[in-house]
Amino acid sequence: MSVGYVYNPIYLKHDTGRHVEVATRLEAIISYLEQTGLKKQLTLIEPRAATVEELSLVHQRQYIEQIGEVAGRGGGWLDPDTVMSADSYEVALYAAGGVIWAVEAVMGREVVSAFALVRPPGHHATSSYAKGFCLFNNIAIATKYALAEYKLERILIIDFDVHHGNGTQEAFYHNPQVMYISAHEYPFYPGTGDLNETGSGAAKGTNLNIPLPAGCGDSEYLKVFEQIIVPAGSRFKPQLIMVSAGYDNHWADPLAMMQVSVNGFGQMAMIIKELADELCGGRLVLTLEGGYNLDALVASVKATFDALLGNSISDPLGGSPRSFGAVDIDRLIAVIKEIHKLP
Ligand SMILES: [Zn+2]
Repeated sequence: MSVGYVYNPIYLKHDTGRHVEVATRLEAIISYLEQTGLKKQLTLIEPRAATVEELSLVHQRQYIEQIGEVAGRGGGWLDPDTVMSADSYEVALYAAGGVIWAVEAVMGREVVSAFALVRPPGHHATSSYAKGFCLFNNIAIATKYALAEYKLERILIIDFDVHHGNGTQEAFYHNPQVMYISAHEYPFYPGTGDLNETGSGAAKGTNLNIPLPAGCGDSEYLKVFEQIIVPAGSRFKPQLIMVSAGYDNHWADPLAMMQVSVNGFGQMAMIIKELADELCGGRLVLTLEGGYNLDALVASVKATFDALLGNSISDPLGGSPRSFGAVDIDRLIAVIKEIHKLP
């Protein structure tokens, strides 16, 4: 049961200067996978650059050209959070291409599942603007690619990054072939992700938001997986599962207020893997989104791989030292079940 990872040092060339989304995130992940011996258990998938045609599956041509032009001028800020360097356009092509190549490897059965360790991240990027550290929407592009290239009819996207993937929601809001499920802190950046955003027209019901209050930890997330994500995902009968894997809901993360542990991320990955095994022959592609505390990020990514490989999970950071009480999300779960007619 081979598990793949996408990586190339080109991802380090997206230079954001003084920023939380920096190249050391990926350098730290790769060196941790080496140190712990895990890298030897994984199959390397070399990425390629996405083509403009592939980017155009999600993005407007004018926007793609604009990103190329900003890089040509040596870089610059696209919004208050999102910055480019001279190499960022090329790196972003490889980030989108890396997730496409992970899809190729999984669909071609070179590996059962694959995790694309890429940057810049993607789930905030919309068809026409950059947002939240994201230039191109890597997971949306690769999902549209999988629909077109492999004539798939149903793909499930699970997004457990602490932020709502506004760009991914936008890309598939009218598309009944893709179910987008996001669990995220709310109200919070980027402001979208209300539970009443459920999809439109023929796609009504295929957008499922789980807006969680601050302070949720492992037990709340596992409840959400068991009571909403697994039943809704199973009902959709996906042929491929794609995951926006963000680790900024770890308790040590500087950007958000959630309490998830490394062990919690490992358990979530185990549930997702079981879902993929049960529904679609194990076909599973993950891509890296957020996660800004390096110690938490590297251990959480390793825990994710360990879950995919069937290894035991270790948590060097332990649970949150902060004493938040249990967060009551039962009412929220009941409302979401009602909206989405879940048992
Ligand atoms: Zn995030």
